Amino acid sequence: MARERRGYRMKAVIKKKRTKGMAFVDVPIPKIGPRDVLIKINAASICGTDVHIYDWTRWAQHRFTPPRIIGHEFVGDVVKVGDEVTRVRVGDRVSAESHLTCGYCYQCNNGNSEVCRNFRLLGVDHNGTFAEFLALPEHVLWKNDQDIPDEWATIQEPFGNAVDTVLSEDVSTKTVLILGAGPIGLFAAGIAKACGASLVIISDPNNYRLAISKKMGVHIAVNPRKQDLVQTVLEATHHNGVDVVLEFSGNNQALDQGLKVLIPGGRISVLGIYERRVNIDLNKDVIFKKIRIYGVTGRKIFSTWYKTSRFLSSGLVNPGPIITHQFPLKDYEKGMKLMKDGKCGKVILMIHDEHKRR
Ligand code: NAD
Ligand code: ZN
Repeated sequence: MARERRGYRMKAVIKKKRTKGMAFVDVPIPKIGPRDVLIKINAASICGTDVHIYDWTRWAQHRFTPPRIIGHEFVGDVVKVGDEVTRVRVGDRVSAESHLTCGYCYQCNNGNSEVCRNFRLLGVDHNGTFAEFLALPEHVLWKNDQDIPDEWATIQEPFGNAVDTVLSEDVSTKTVLILGAGPIGLFAAGIAKACGASLVIISDPNNYRLAISKKMGVHIAVNPRKQDLVQTVLEATHHNGVDVVLEFSGNNQALDQGLKVLIPGGRISVLGIYERRVNIDLNKDVIFKKIRIYGVTGRKIFSTWYKTSRFLSSGLVNPGPIITHQFPLKDYEKGMKLMKDGKCGKVILMIHDEHKRR
């Protein structure tokens, strides 16, 4: 008999106290309402946000209220549905949009639900995915393509961030500079290549991650602590600068360098989040160059999920080289440590791994 029907308890990673650290504990399996589903989680992946919550950084202290199960990236199987659920059935393999949107505010009604006025974040405002089971409202669920294995399905949420950053405008035949080779910058490299960028340059002080970027097909990988990034980009572009800059570092100096090497009339899309206000030369590097700056947050719901699913199921992008580590849930701290040390790409927690890659 299924455990979830007998009111058993489950394992979960929970932030209990307003201090550094987390706990691996037994908690009750969540109850569902009429429009909710219960999901048995197969795999969940660790995001930088989870590490902020673990470390209890300034951001976490202001944004997070314990106790809460963390995590917002996952894939799992629906095991129970509420009486009014119509869109999914028991047995469906799902992931979910981590922005739990309201569905009725001005932005939601105008196709901009990624900036929903009332959104709640999975794993921050709602119990998250680092657990054996998860309860979610059906309207945030995404039914997974059968051709996408669990290790790839769980990373669709951050992959979608990269999709929207790369594709805020067309990149075909364009020259592209990617700042930051963290997991999302690396996804972006694969997407830019798949969409026909003619030159992809990536910059990151982390050599481990630069090595992965090569596997994703970037043409030039630069360590800005060892090489002059501006000079390298100008030499590679006949001193024109690049057509497109994609910012994933959250580093002010990198942003500034990116603006300096962006061609007049070009575009920059910024996903990276900065610890403090940034300092850039707005007159010289933005206004008089007539560039376009896009801020990117979350993903388009659900148009970006369709694109993400097709990039992965078609083989247009192979995220394999970026997924560097897998651990059982109880070893989540090993993953957090690797992320803090930058010695990883994407780290995945395998929870019930019945759908491992064939
Ligand atoms: P990450 O922290 O793993 O990657 C950032 C990378 O930038 C690291 O590899 C780091 O070494 C590199 N870096 C640091 N200084 C640099 C410099 N001067 N030049 C070039 N690279 C430099 O983060 P991630 O998970 O890949 O996410 C990328 C960024 O996007 C982060 O800032 C994250 O906070 C942000 N983010 C934003 C959203 C959103 O909705 N806007 C969503 C997810 C993540
Ligand atoms: Zn809304």
